[in-house]
Amino acid sequence: MTPETGADRLKLVIVGGYLGAGKSTWLRHQLHVGAFSNPHLVINEAAELAVDDAIFGTDTPATLLAGGCACCAGRSEFLTALRQLCDRRSGPVGARGRTDLAVLETSGLADPAAIAQAIQSDPMLPFHVTLAETIVLVDAQNAAAQLAAEPLSRAQIEAADRLVLTKTDLAPAGDTARLIATLSRLNPGAVISADIRGVAATLPDHPDADPLPLADNAAAPIAPIQITLPEGLDWSAFAVWLSALLTAHGDDIVRVKGTVRTPAGRLLLQGIRTHVQPPEILPASDLARDGTIVLIGRNMDAHRITRSLARFAARLL
Ligand SMILES: [Zn+2]
Repeated sequence: MTPETGADRLKLVIVGGYLGAGKSTWLRHQLHVGAFSNPHLVINEAAELAVDDAIFGTDTPATLLAGGCACCAGRSEFLTALRQLCDRRSGPVGARGRTDLAVLETSGLADPAAIAQAIQSDPMLPFHVTLAETIVLVDAQNAAAQLAAEPLSRAQIEAADRLVLTKTDLAPAGDTARLIATLSRLNPGAVISADIRGVAATLPDHPDADPLPLADNAAAPIAPIQITLPEGLDWSAFAVWLSALLTAHGDDIVRVKGTVRTPAGRLLLQGIRTHVQPPEILPASDLARDGTIVLIGRNMDAHRITRSLARFAARLL
C-alpha cells in the first residue's frame, strides 16, 4: 500500500446533526462568508422530496442525493457521487467542475461515523478522499431531549471534530450550560462553539454546570487516551498491532489520530471505528507530537494498551 500525499486527495467536510438542528441555515451562511474555498456541495436528504437544494441557489456547484440517507439506504449513491468528484479531479487544475473540497450536508438521521466507514470500506475512495473535518450541529433547544431518547443523536455528537450549537438564543442559558457540559463529557476532544443564524454567539460561562443524566444510554462516555510509540518502531509492525487492537476493541474505539515518523516520511494516521484510512504523507516538520497517537473511545486503559505495544515491539527488536 503506497501512501499518497494529502494534497492529491479530495477533502471532504461532513456537516451533520439531528433533524432540525439547522444544518442548511448554517451551511448557507458559511458559504456566504466564504468559509469554504471553491466547494462542491453534496446535499443528502433521506426523503424522496428534496427541499434543501432550493435554498442554496445556483452559485455553488451541488449534487443532490435525495431518497436515501448516505450512511445507510443511500450509501451506494453517495459513494458513486464521491467517485465522480474524484474522477473530475483527473483534469487540469482550474478546469470546470474540478474541486478540491466536497462538503456533505447529511440527512438528519445520518451517523457521520457510518459515512466515514462507508468511504473507508470502498476499494478505491480511501486513496483519493481525505476526511478533513466532521462538523455536527446541535440544536440548543432540543438536544437534551434528543440525547435522552435517541442513541443516534449521541452517535452524531461522538463522531464530531467540531460541535456548533444553534438556537442558543431560544434556550435558557442554564440549560445551554448543562448541554455544553454534557457534550464535553460525551466528546471531550470536540471544539464547541455557537452560531445564531450565521453569526458566532457567545457560549454561556458556567464551568460548574452538571452534565445531563443520560441513564437511557448505558454506554460509558468516550474519552481520549494518548499512546507514545516506542522509539524506532517499525511502521508495518505498528500497523499490524494497531489493526489487532482495533479488532479487539470493536466499536469501543471511535477515532484514531496521530502522526508517525517512518522511513517514507511523516505519516498522518486517521481512523474511524475499526477502519484506518490509508496513511497520508505529511510535509516534514519538527513537531514534538510526532510518534504519538490518540485513541478516542470507551473502556480503554492507556497503561494496558501502552504495555501491549511495548511487548509487541520488544518481540520484534
Ligand atoms: Zn443513514
